[in-house]
Amino acid sequence: MRVQADREVCIGAGMCVLTLPEVFDQDEDDGRVVLRTPEPAPALAQRAREAVALCPSRALSAAP
Ligand code: SF4
Repeated sequence: MRVQADREVCIGAGMCVLTLPEVFDQDEDDGRVVLRTPEPAPALAQRAREAVALCPSRALSAAP
């Protein structure tokens, strides 16, 4: 799986960080998403898809 995050679209809501802190973090300055690992381990794939679905600004995407 490969995850992408568009920081221009992110509104810093933090849902992704709450859902999967192993993969997502927030910038200390502007609160926008920071991708910790763009290729999560298979065991994290389901929660990564949940994080993509929960993002209110549709800043996240995931490909198999
Ligand atoms: S859930 Fe979406 S809007 Fe919120 S911090 Fe994550 S990427 Fe940004």
